[in-house]
Amino acid sequence: VTQGRARRLPEAAAGSVLASLYDVLFREYGPQGWWPVPGRAGHHGFDRGGYHPGDRRPPSRPSERFQIALGSVLTQNTAWTNAEQALTRLLQEGAASPQGILSARPGELARWIRSSGYYNQKARKLKSLAAVFRRRGALSGSPPTREELLGVWGIGEETADSILLYAYGKPVFVVDAYTRRLLARLCLTQPDEGYGALQELFQASLPRDAGLYSEYHALIVAHGKSRCRARPLCGGCPVRVCPSNPNAADRP
Ligand code: SF4
Repeated sequence: VTQGRARRLPEAAAGSVLASLYDVLFREYGPQGWWPVPGRAGHHGFDRGGYHPGDRRPPSRPSERFQIALGSVLTQNTAWTNAEQALTRLLQEGAASPQGILSARPGELARWIRSSGYYNQKARKLKSLAAVFRRRGALSGSPPTREELLGVWGIGEETADSILLYAYGKPVFVVDAYTRRLLARLCLTQPDEGYGALQELFQASLPRDAGLYSEYHALIVAHGKSRCRARPLCGGCPVRVCPSNPNAADRP
């Protein structure tokens, strides 16, 4: 895998690669239906995991928006399946609302979300997040701002942007470890590039379209899990512009 400062592409070429990369990933993995809403699993338009492939709109129901906010914290440093289990427990306990989170005793809340790991910390984060939502009236009124979310203890840029994009349809590109790794492997950025620079590269290269950003981020995650892993499976990879691809094509 090629990573290095000397191989970085100029910005215009990077934009061109990012625009075509979306088509390649979408052809390979199809619509991802993010962000899953377990409380709607099996309902019309949602599959058994709460995914909604083909429908890129943010949820219209306030309770679903808050489930996405909860899920974005619960999935920090753990697989979605563990976060989903914790979220399902909150739903079963009738606590998947700002009031439900705030009225739960800290130890009780931590126990309900145990499957997601770091449960004491996450219980504290959920209470802080719920306080912002209640103060803002964010479920029925205006969404929290990025600054408000970043002011919540334990909520960083990736989590804040996930909430803004997937719960409220704000056109902000979500950057995660899969994104950073893939872009470095494509020689578009450095492996240690900052969050803001990576986000800006996407946002400057693509139309400001929340639906596109939601699908693109989910596709990068799908690719990072199935092929572009820590030890990548490059044989047969559809990303032909990648220097590590044995069938690498000329760059646009
Ligand atoms: S899996 Fe694909 S994108 Fe990732 S390093 Fe290998 S060829 Fe590149």
